[in-house]
This record gives sequence, C-alpha cells and structure tokens, in this order.
Amino acid sequence: MPTQTQYGLMSPDELVAERDRQTANYTQLKSQKLTLDLTRGKPSSAQLDLSQDLLSLPGTNFRAADGTDCRNYGGLTGLPELRAIFGELLGIPVQNLYAAGNASLELMHDTVVYSLFAGTVDSPAPWANEPGRKFLCPSPGYDRHFAITEAYGFEMIAIPMNPDGPDVHAIEELVANDPSIKGLWAVPNYSNPTGVVYSEAVVKALVSMPTAAPDFRLYWDNAYAVHPLVEEAAPNLDVLGMAAAAGNPNRPLVFASTSKITFAGAGVSFIGASEANLKWYVQHASKKTIGPDKVNQLRHAQFFQDADGVRAHMAKHRKIMAPKFALVRDILEDRLGASKTASWTDPKGGYFISLDVLDGTAGRVVALAKEAGIALTPAGSAFPYGKDPDDRNIRLAPSLPPLDEVASAMDGVATCVLLAATEKLIA
Ligand code: PLP
Repeated sequence: MPTQTQYGLMSPDELVAERDRQTANYTQLKSQKLTLDLTRGKPSSAQLDLSQDLLSLPGTNFRAADGTDCRNYGGLTGLPELRAIFGELLGIPVQNLYAAGNASLELMHDTVVYSLFAGTVDSPAPWANEPGRKFLCPSPGYDRHFAITEAYGFEMIAIPMNPDGPDVHAIEELVANDPSIKGLWAVPNYSNPTGVVYSEAVVKALVSMPTAAPDFRLYWDNAYAVHPLVEEAAPNLDVLGMAAAAGNPNRPLVFASTSKITFAGAGVSFIGASEANLKWYVQHASKKTIGPDKVNQLRHAQFFQDADGVRAHMAKHRKIMAPKFALVRDILEDRLGASKTASWTDPKGGYFISLDVLDGTAGRVVALAKEAGIALTPAGSAFPYGKDPDDRNIRLAPSLPPLDEVASAMDGVATCVLLAATEKLIA
C-alpha cells in the first residue's frame, strides 16, 4: 500500500505508527532474500546482443578504405572512416577527432597525466609543479572522474548542478581569480547521474569565461552523446567551434566512446580537440603505444557503415532501456510521491537516475538496502572524495537487470527510503 500522507505533516504519534508500518514492510522485504544490483551503469545482455555481429567482423576484409592492412602496427590517429562517422554524430570535423583504444576514461586519465608531467600546450609549467592545483567537479557527477583527480593530488571543488548544467556563476568567479584551477569535469549530454543536458548558454559561458590559468581545460566527456531515451536526441553542441570563436580553441578536450553503443570495455574511444591539442596528444601518446586496435576500429566502421547506422542502432538500445526508466519513475512516484520524502530526476537520456532522499538518510537507505540484498552505489559516491555534504544523493542504474528485477529492486529501495525517513523524523 503506497503511503498517502506527507511525512512532514504527520504528528509524532502518526510518525511512530508509520515507522512501525515501514519496519514491517522492511522485515517482509528481507524475508524475500533478494540479490539485486543497481550499482553500475552497465548495458544489459540484451543490449550487448545488439552488437553480436561485430564478433564476426572484419573477417577477411581487413583493409581500411585507404588500403591500410589493419592487422599491422600504426595509425595512431585512428581510422578515418570511423572518425568520419563519429565526427558527424559528435559535431566534430574529422581532422579534429582521433579514434583510440578501448576506453575514453583512459584518454582522460592519460591527458591529465601528460599535463601533470609535461604541461599542456598553454602551460607555463607542468601541472605537477603547482602544489595547490585544483579541479572543478560539478556534483553529483561521475565518481571515476573524481577518482582521477583525487589520485593525482588535485584539490576538488564541488560545483552545484542546475537543470541546465553546472552553476556557471560560481565557476566564473572561481576561475577568474585562481590560476591553480586547471580544469572542470563535464558530461554535457545526459550527465551522469542527473541526466542534465547543458544548455547552449552554459556551454557558451564555459568556453568564453576569462580564466586566471592560461592552461585551463574543459574535460568534455560526451559519453552519452547518442544515448537518448526519447525519440528526439539532444543536440551535440559544437564546443570546439564555440571555444575557437571565443578565442580559447585549446580549452575543450572532448571524449567519447562506443562503450555503451557496442561492447562496454571492448569498443572504441575518441578524443576531439584543436589541432594544437591533438598534436600534443599524439606526441605523448606515441610514447605509450605504436597505435590503437585498428581491427576493432575497422569492424566498428563496417558494422555501422555510417552515422545513420549508429542512430538506428541506438534506437534499438532505447527500446530496451526506456521501459526500465519508466518503471523506476512509476514505482518512485507510486511509493514515495505522496510522502514527499524524496525527489528524483526524469532523464531524457543516459544511464542513470539521481535520487535525492531526506537529508541525512542516504547512507542509511543504502545500508538498509544492502541488508535486504539490494546493492546500491555507496551514498556520496557522486561527490568529490565520496562525501555528499547533505547525505541525500543516491545514484540509480537500472540498465543491467531485467525489468522484473528492476521492479523488485525499486520497490525495495522505496521501502528503505520510507523507513529511513521515519527514523530520521522521529529522532
Ligand atoms: N564517462 C562517463 C560519464 C561514464 O558514465 C562512463 C561509464 O559509465 C565512462 C565515461 C566510461 O567510458 P569508457 O568505457 O569509454 O572508458
């Protein structure tokens, strides 16, 4: 039975009765001995099946369009035909987009490390020489981004997320005065985990704002560039062109991959940037590899044929994903709506739903869920240092489990949210 009353309006006696009711629900939940997992945004096996034909490509057709034998070394910038397909999708000219290895996270990591050791093309000195170096972290955000900058000694500054992107006023003020702020993590389309799409005004502000650091970088991780959950995809704004027009051509480093298009961890990654930045990238990348896996790049080009091939493929993903997101939304509304103990995002794309529970209860909700056999991402993980100052945010990832498991897991999560809320309000 859904809770019909707003918790904030309940008398102390009513709250105690409600807690007892939710405790009974929770005992019943635990007796089901569930083992469910809503932690990481992995594609489901049904989604991976969509790309099964990749495994029989390229067969004997191992030559690239220009005749290159893809079985051999070389080609650090990636196959032009694949760069052309993804350049069209990302809105990046083919000469400004290189195709690389299996993971865009590796490109982000490596370019941070190159900047630390050698500096960027605009750096007066390597970033490592700057003991108080800082990075801006729109939060909630992607935990693996924050893990990179934490590992390499950046002080991370959380930036609030608004419905149209990170709070640009806060960012402008910080970067204008502090030359030790070296960059900003950004997921411009269908952000992880909020689903926020950056507006054109926000993008314009980010590429044109004055920065005290001459080598400030936007780490523009467009991981969900072609991943709408609705028919009409959000546009991929021409961040490189906008930055060049604003006089800051080297500011953005764009990243993308096919991890959530074909095979997660066995796809192709991309880096998009100005000519100077790409030259810098190749100069450093050439010390670590003779070239990427061109056979994999070739089979991706053969599999998709063109940008429309990718769009058609993503429509199949959408058919599998959209019902799961709708189900999560319906269960949250049905179980939590009236109690007003939580709010959640309604993303139009990407892989996540961001759930905000009553302040001070996210950790408790995750612990309760764990005890009931439902694995959730640790509370706070979408914030720098894993610390949510309000202890309210939980990232939900409904992509991996089948629909019936998503339903059981979300129903269980709702019970945990309600129980934790009554406990908190009584205390
Ligand atoms: N960037 C974001 C925002 C993600 O959510 C993920 C995976 O969840 C990645 C990057 C990982 O991408 P890749 O597999 O290309 O390293």
